[in-house]
Amino acid sequence: MQNHSATINSEPKRKDMSKITIAIDGLSSCGKSTLAKALAKRLGYVYGDSGAMYRAVTLYFLDNDLDWNNEDDVKLGLSKIKIHFENIDGKNTTFLNGKNVEDDIRTMRVSDSVSPVATISTIRKQMVAMQQAMGENGGIVMDGRDIGTVVFPKAELKLFVTASAEVRTQRRYEELLAKGWNVDFEEIKMNLLERDRIDSSREDSPLMKADDAVELDNSRLDQQEQLNIALELAHAVLEG
Ligand code: C5P
Repeated sequence: MQNHSATINSEPKRKDMSKITIAIDGLSSCGKSTLAKALAKRLGYVYGDSGAMYRAVTLYFLDNDLDWNNEDDVKLGLSKIKIHFENIDGKNTTFLNGKNVEDDIRTMRVSDSVSPVATISTIRKQMVAMQQAMGENGGIVMDGRDIGTVVFPKAELKLFVTASAEVRTQRRYEELLAKGWNVDFEEIKMNLLERDRIDSSREDSPLMKADDAVELDNSRLDQQEQLNIALELAHAVLEG
């Protein structure tokens, strides 16, 4: 026989506030993912890289000669794509249809096409559903462009990260150089500015600061200083 006593006697169910949702949005290469990863690690939360999902879709479309402006191609592509993440040697790693694509999705080839791909509503709908499923139990830090506005509008903590274009380009340049890639500073800068332009002006869920987001300009902060500010904000919510 089922025991109903817990249901009868229990108070209305309250959300487990030890597992909040943290949304981090901002311009390209502003340090969102570095912050989100570090924050997730410190809090013991899941890290969600929404940009990696749009990048994986873009890689699939490019590799399979599919046109993201053609609705039939979009439906076909989306029906064939399976994205998942694994922690490999402590690093969040993106898999597309069972293959590790973590490096492939960071190439300039993908960076140059990802923002146009991310304007397509059918694609966004599927990615947003995946992202919401990842965060349904809270205890997640997700970074992207529409996390605080569309994916998790009820997130307990929202950050909107900014930094100057020069600083952002330098950081991305050093990141790619460290991978041993042959990269051009000006090409990276153009790509960042063009992605910012497309991401901020698209019709469907453009990049913008949510009304209740805390703005964090990290142009003059190092990673630890930025993390300390975010941790303080998170603890204020958790202890709230
Ligand atoms: O975060 P990252 O720079 O890897 O994202 C790549 C691109 O994916 C962005 O420039 C944007 O066009 C798109 N994106 C998005 N919405 C998100 C995350 C990323 O449109 N939530």
